[in-house]
Amino acid sequence: MTALFSRNVAALAPSATFAVAREAARLRADGVDVVDLGAGEPDFATPKLVADAGIRAIVEGKTKYAPTEGILELRAAIARRLSLLSGGRPVNADHIVVSNGSKQSLFNACLCLFGQREKVLVPTPAWTSYPQIVHLARARPVAVTGDPEWSLKVSVDDLARACDESVKGLILNSPTNPTGAVYTLAELRAIAEWAGRQGVWIVADEIYRQIHYGLGPAPSFLDLPDELLERVVIVNGASKAFAMTGWRIGFALAPRELAGVMNALLSHTTSGANTPAMWAAAEAFGNDAVQAEVAAMTQQFRRRRDYLVGRFRSELLGTEFVDPLGAFYLFFRVDHVFSAKVPNGTEFCRRLIADEALALVPGAAFGDDRWVRLSYAASDELLRAGMDRLVREFARLAAEKAA
Ligand code: PMP
Ligand code: GLU
Repeated sequence: MTALFSRNVAALAPSATFAVAREAARLRADGVDVVDLGAGEPDFATPKLVADAGIRAIVEGKTKYAPTEGILELRAAIARRLSLLSGGRPVNADHIVVSNGSKQSLFNACLCLFGQREKVLVPTPAWTSYPQIVHLARARPVAVTGDPEWSLKVSVDDLARACDESVKGLILNSPTNPTGAVYTLAELRAIAEWAGRQGVWIVADEIYRQIHYGLGPAPSFLDLPDELLERVVIVNGASKAFAMTGWRIGFALAPRELAGVMNALLSHTTSGANTPAMWAAAEAFGNDAVQAEVAAMTQQFRRRRDYLVGRFRSELLGTEFVDPLGAFYLFFRVDHVFSAKVPNGTEFCRRLIADEALALVPGAAFGDDRWVRLSYAASDELLRAGMDRLVREFARLAAEKAA
């Protein structure tokens, strides 16, 4: 069947994270009281100031094609926000290309930078779309396994071991989906210096940068000096920090020439992002009052994280998890309850849905099926019910294993 189609899609599989959300919705439609902690999507409404700006744009007739790279008002607002988040460093709005969600910027960057017979390093566990995006560019993703003793992050040594002359890029995500780990500035610097020496491009996915439980935003490549950024593309967007997943606004900040090529690609594919959504995003990035809402949402995520970590520490003592310092995911090991009937995370999640109607994402979606991801972008009530169900399932599987 697949022989009918182009080699462009030879490795293509549907997004596993969206597949879990779809299955949970199907069960709910069948009347099952399902708790869905699968999808990584803020449960908050888009801030009113932002939604109003989108409505205003529509009413005022800002509904035509816009410049493919994005309206200047949005690019200027993003440049100013990035500058403020990085201690006032200059950020040039002309190097910013807006896209339909950050996923499209990741795709465009990879399509413009990588190709056949080239490899791209992907620190793993990794968000499910990276290997797929690299395949779509006809390049080869190379998983570089992170160290469990180090929150599953990779070091320069890990990257160097995986590197050969066909490696052209690295996709680095911090704060990390699915682990919640955060790279320190010193770690980012070491990786940027190594990549610079190797001539390896870095695609830095910083979509969770403002959802950080340390002081201020998470460390960014933008906190490094210019000379380390000559081959770095920074990708970010409105989806997570501003609870704007459905508005589909993301962006790339790239060296000027690459920004030009990515813009040319947009001019032949989507003709740029949705115009009213760009006006809404200009308000999100531009209006300082919205930052208070970002802080309030992050505070909620922090509280929920503390609740989950507390319950793991008191009720699931033998279950290892990555210390979540950012994003809104808890990544935990399940291999201590594996048995002949439940030999991997995928089967663990299948049982969890069947026994307890709790939807989580198996680690297979991220490259290691000894683990499972729980998203805490959900209400307190759902998290409480989800944890009750998870604790029961662990007890059930441990008893089955012992029997
Ligand atoms: N990067 C990561 C790590 C993500 O988790 C997501 C979540 N969807 C995205 C990128 C894409 O987000 P969006 O396209 O909505 O900006
Ligand atoms: N990023 C979210 C997740 O990992 C949303 C789904 C997706 O884009 O993959 O669940």
